[in-house]
Amino acid sequence: MPAIPSSTPLPTAEPLEPQDPNSLFAMAVAATNRACEVISAPAFVRAILTQPKNELIVNFLVQMDDGHYKMFKGYRIQHNNILGPYKGGMRYHPEMSLDDGKALALWMTMKSALMRLPYGGAKGGVKVNPRDLSPTELMRLTRRFTAALGNTIGPDHDIPAPDVGTTAQIMDWMMDTFLNTHESDSKQALRHVVTGKSLPCGGSEGREKATGQGFVYVLQELLPEFNLSMEEMRFSVLGFGNVGSNTATILQSLGAKLVAVADHTGFLRTTIADAGIDATLLAAHVAKSGAIGGFEARNTEWVERETFYRTPIDVFIPAALERMVDKQVAQWLNCKVVAEGGNGPCTPEADALLAYRNIALLPAILCNSGGVTVSYLEWVQNKQGVKWTLEQVDTELKTTIVNAARRVRLASHQYNIDMATAAYVVAIEHITKAYNNRGIFP
Ligand code: NAD
Repeated sequence: MPAIPSSTPLPTAEPLEPQDPNSLFAMAVAATNRACEVISAPAFVRAILTQPKNELIVNFLVQMDDGHYKMFKGYRIQHNNILGPYKGGMRYHPEMSLDDGKALALWMTMKSALMRLPYGGAKGGVKVNPRDLSPTELMRLTRRFTAALGNTIGPDHDIPAPDVGTTAQIMDWMMDTFLNTHESDSKQALRHVVTGKSLPCGGSEGREKATGQGFVYVLQELLPEFNLSMEEMRFSVLGFGNVGSNTATILQSLGAKLVAVADHTGFLRTTIADAGIDATLLAAHVAKSGAIGGFEARNTEWVERETFYRTPIDVFIPAALERMVDKQVAQWLNCKVVAEGGNGPCTPEADALLAYRNIALLPAILCNSGGVTVSYLEWVQNKQGVKWTLEQVDTELKTTIVNAARRVRLASHQYNIDMATAAYVVAIEHITKAYNNRGIFP
């Protein structure tokens, strides 16, 4: 029996429809609305999900190494917390904006719900290029930003994690600042205010590779849907950072071949289709130099952008930043499946063209949820004061994400919808049940 009697008047607000259809937030809202249509989600759930609960902007000064002060703009967007504390990454990027943060926060709500984690969704960050700062400036910026956020974040209220441009080191500084600005009987008891920390500071085994590892578990489960096998799979990757490099090296260890790879420094392709590019060697090069540029290996060549995208493969993995797959790229792609490693990689026009061309799409909210899942496992370990082995973490991650992939496949068959819409459907059905059972206060 739902807690909200059918006679109760519910909010009649229209779901939010942002004006610019190419804005990241408009893309996230459109996907949410599409899924709500499929399951006839109540109007009040749509109204709640199509806008964040809280949007905070902070402006704060940071002292630079030469002594002068510079003003920075930081954000924290808390999208939804019906299932548990707000949860989501902090991004340091020159194009970080409120609108993008709102989209990324909405996607975090969907990921948590889809994975059945007791979390809501949030996102934040600072408008800054971290490469322009020295390590001491980066530390001061992180401490000032964390202090400016005050009680907006908290171990059982809103839990940040790394994202583009932030690292375990930055999470350590964030945690340390929070511990030193908040009262507690035991400071260590607040360590779970941030996840993605380094191992000595309370991080979890397996967090670094978690997003790539989760991605591979999803592919292992769903590849048979497309008559593909891991051993014979040929793939290309756009973006070779945390997500792209970990995904590629794990896929390679299972027999798949990396045929082409690109980042902001260039486009690399193998000259012998059956040989592939050694993802492990390339990852070592990127770890040292920061990008794929300058990588030299036998049987590889640098190619033009168009040639990279036209290279025949089975699975294309966009794992860079948002909106990088536009209509033109969607026209060039020569693959059976696009599996989204990064968030929101395809523009709405690209999505439509891929569907028209019968190229299947596995959505980011399923494929890259390994990160938030292992963040949750880190949080649980911190709360319980225990330390799990890598095997324990990987086993939990696998169970969680494979179950989610199965739910998505089931919903896709049940409603006769694509996998991307199905992923939102599975998430929103779960959230709707929580709202129906709890009701709207007062
Ligand atoms: P990262 O900063 O480690 O790597 C980003 C990659 O994108 C780099 O290889 C960079 O060269 C490439 N790139 C940037 N601009 C480019 C351009 N113009 N053309 C081609 N390549 C370009 O970031 P990451 O952590 O791997 O995150 C990538 C995506 O995955 C983001 O959308 C992020 O939100 C998402 N994501 C990350 C995690 C995580 O755990 N790191 C979890 C979930 C989702």
